[in-house]
Amino acid sequence: AKARLGESICFFETGMDERARERRQLANDLRQAGANGQLSVLYQPQHSLRTGAVSGYEALLRWMHPRRGLVSPDEFIPIAEETGEIIALGEWVLREACHEARSWPGEEKVAVNLSPVQFLQPNLVEMVRSVLVETGLPARRLELEITETAIIHDKLRALHCLRLIKAMGISVAIDDFGTGYSSLDTLQSFPFDKIKIDKSFLLKSEGSAQARAIIRAVLALGRSLDIPVLAEGIETEGQLRVLKAEGCDEGQGYYFGHPSAAPSLKVREAAP
Ligand code: C2E
Ligand code: CA
Ligand code: CA
Ligand code: CA
Repeated sequence: AKARLGESICFFETGMDERARERRQLANDLRQAGANGQLSVLYQPQHSLRTGAVSGYEALLRWMHPRRGLVSPDEFIPIAEETGEIIALGEWVLREACHEARSWPGEEKVAVNLSPVQFLQPNLVEMVRSVLVETGLPARRLELEITETAIIHDKLRALHCLRLIKAMGISVAIDDFGTGYSSLDTLQSFPFDKIKIDKSFLLKSEGSAQARAIIRAVLALGRSLDIPVLAEGIETEGQLRVLKAEGCDEGQGYYFGHPSAAPSLKVREAAP
């Protein structure tokens, strides 16, 4: 029994080592990924549930690793946040997305995710301003998506930062709403333009009464604070029907469209 215990501990440690080594390797590879042309941005449509029209597109980063294939952002973003690489990466996505949106024929917004690590950068506001100037995208067409994690560390600073961003004419959405802390307090004191209900509630909504109750509560909250609510992760017509009936303003999910190549490219491809 002793030997077996020893063996399993040894096995466990090797497993940990292996994972740490793999993370280090990924972190290294990620530093080169941009220069090696392995990064791209996909765009997923956001629809008004009243009219069905596309109101915007969310920019989502993709990494095609030469050996591992597509690596999920849920895997590499946390690594990039740990190493600080997210600062350069996030700025690249923002520039790419603003440049892309500039060439859309319509007035749709482009929504860009901002990591809490980026949000803590002292030059964040200047960085965003200079990307807008460089790309020529009007500020009203940019939306930044932040999570509560970005603001809980230093609320006063975060509030100051958000006000500067909003003063430029940029809108700000609170992402993954319902999964963080101090939600009600945060919502009330921060000038958000949109609430994004986390997709975990949607994915459960057809089966679970609790998930539906949460969705209803967030919609009521949005109405009382006069902030539009977007539901993410809409996959079925049934979910869409419920959300419309409950008065949800906007929606995003596979039902409407998967994240896909730049809308401007598609327009060009479709042209004869
Ligand atoms: P997120 O910001 O909550 O983005 C929504 C995620 O849900 C995306 O995953 C999207 O592909 C996925 N999704 C959209 N519709 C559906 C649906 O109907 N069903 C399901 N099951 N999923 C759906 P993705 O692209 O893998 O990104 C995962 C997360 O990685 C994002 O979650 C975001 O937190 C982060 N991320 C992605 N791109 C960036 C980026 O440029 N910067 C930063 N900081 N984070 C990013
Ligand atoms: Ca997002
Ligand atoms: Ca989200
Ligand atoms: Ca998320």
